[in-house]
Amino acid sequence: MSTDVTERPDTRPSDPGLEEGKVAHIIRKDDQMRGYVMGEEVIALCGERFIPTRDPEQYPVCEGCKQALTMLRASGGN
Ligand SMILES: [Zn+2]
Repeated sequence: MSTDVTERPDTRPSDPGLEEGKVAHIIRKDDQMRGYVMGEEVIALCGERFIPTRDPEQYPVCEGCKQALTMLRASGGN
């Protein structure tokens, strides 16, 4: 009899984008709230739709988001 349980039923919807991406997208504060608290899909600055993870710091920042943020700041928008 084995007490080791390494397999768990996968109840999450498969999202290849999340697994493969492994990047931290930049999202607006309002969206962060919705994403983290409500678990809703949000749209990053780069246009990518995703559900925020709890520890975005462990992933490299999305290049597309970085560029979008730079452009936003350069244009003086919020
Ligand atoms: Zn992004």
